[in-house]
Amino acid sequence: MLENYVSGKWKSGQGDGEPLLDPVLGNELARVSTKGIDMGAALDYARRVGGPALRAMTFAERAKMIDAIAKLFIAKRASYMEIARDNSGNTERDASFDIDGAIGTLRYFAKIGSSLGDTKYVRDGEPFALGRDASLQAIHLATPRTGAAIHINAFNFPAWGTWEKAAVALLAGVPVVSKPAAATALLAWQMVKDVVDANLLPDGAFSLIAGGIGDLLDHVEANDVIAFTGSAATAARVRGHQRVVELGVRVNCEADSLNAIILGPDVADLGQFTDEIVREMTLKSGQKCTAIRRILVPRDRISGAAEALQAALTNIKVGDPRREGVVMGPVVTKKQQTSVREGIADLRKEASVLFEGKSIEADDPERGAFVAPMLLQSNDSANASAVHDIEVFGPVATLMAYDSVDDALQLAARGKGSLVTSIVTADEALGMNAALQLAQSNGRVMILNESVRAANPGHGVVMPSCVHGGPGRAGGGEELGGLRGLWFYLQRTAIQGPDAQIKALAQNGAVLAV
Ligand code: NAP
Repeated sequence: MLENYVSGKWKSGQGDGEPLLDPVLGNELARVSTKGIDMGAALDYARRVGGPALRAMTFAERAKMIDAIAKLFIAKRASYMEIARDNSGNTERDASFDIDGAIGTLRYFAKIGSSLGDTKYVRDGEPFALGRDASLQAIHLATPRTGAAIHINAFNFPAWGTWEKAAVALLAGVPVVSKPAAATALLAWQMVKDVVDANLLPDGAFSLIAGGIGDLLDHVEANDVIAFTGSAATAARVRGHQRVVELGVRVNCEADSLNAIILGPDVADLGQFTDEIVREMTLKSGQKCTAIRRILVPRDRISGAAEALQAALTNIKVGDPRREGVVMGPVVTKKQQTSVREGIADLRKEASVLFEGKSIEADDPERGAFVAPMLLQSNDSANASAVHDIEVFGPVATLMAYDSVDDALQLAARGKGSLVTSIVTADEALGMNAALQLAQSNGRVMILNESVRAANPGHGVVMPSCVHGGPGRAGGGEELGGLRGLWFYLQRTAIQGPDAQIKALAQNGAVLAV
């Protein structure tokens, strides 16, 4: 039974708990339970003990602490890779994406955090006079919120999800109460266990809820913040939770997204376009919030694009990640496998199958939660709806024909708010114009052509220096973005008063130059 780390102690939940399974072999790895855990006391401890300890530190001191966590994870990386394989069915490539993503993000925030120096609060802008002379001045200052940061994460990134949020909250000076998704909690649990054992954080600065959410949200207070990542349905429940609404608790949601890629009419060589799509469909078996779900192609290029994608997908070996040459593993649970199959059935009502992988390289393919890659083609792009509404969280994407660039941009916007859309084009005017139009419905837009091919980390990669999130269906949230990410954890206040005091306060504030 994985224990919860609350009120500065490891505590077991009651009962049998829920099993965590190996999605390839089906065997049980551990159990989680939060039954009987006093969630109110856990939050109170974070606020009362962790918060003051963090706020007593400067940004530079907190940055150093974050750097120490990153260094610890680098030393333990090999053991984390094994856990990711066992509990999430990750290949090396998948596990690296999650674990190295976590380490990279921690290191990034350690570095930019140290640039804030020995300051404890933030100054937003310069002091300015309010009255007819300079005696009364005002300054906007932002101080760490005195509540707890409740982090609720999705099953697909137990490492990155936990630490991309924690890095920013801890740097801001706010204690974290982190809840990984139950099904894949083993990796997050082990990482937290290692941090606690190494004594890298002040008491109360980090708590772990390893299992169900229980009544955690019934104990929120006005100064807490909630950063949620998961499905749009759960996001709506979190946002609509009665106490959260009544107290006006600050909430950030990162939810579903039907991300798109557009092939520009000018592109003759499909290599870059195909590489991008195949990587997005197969990395983490398509279980990435940023993965490409909709592929928009000029109508007269559809058959060429279909052929190129089919040929590339044929080379993807699916199976047990322990086997040599396997590129794509299973989805995380049998439940997810069922959900992906149901989603495919819904998409197929409006689309035809262009490619479906057949062979699974595993001792017992039926036992594992395998889903072969599938490429669909929309029968009628203009009138299709499922492809714009249903996020199938697996190795599945749908080709759609467009008649003009405007048509493509309108189709992309039918995702009702996405995390990211890419356009492949060497036409500079087209790329820039499309980016500005796509910006309204996307948190991130990528213009791709040969000039950035070597430097491109990938459509689905969330860079800690860039904002992550998207409008509408994608949750309406925004995380990361370098030092911009700190704002969520800070309370900005306009302080008005005598000239000398306002200027002295301003002088001691860090400027978030991002
Ligand atoms: P989920 O079912 O919505 O669960 C997300 C988290 O919410 C889990 O930790 C879950 O706990 C918890 N939860 C469940 N019920 C809750 C409630 N009533 N109140 C508060 N929290 C509750 O999502 P998932 O299946 O884990 O993740 C897949 C989804 O996440 C996909 O739709 C994907 O697009 C999205 N995602 C988005 C991003 C992004 O950055 N936008 C990133 C990754 C994933 P339990 O596990 O204990 O049920």
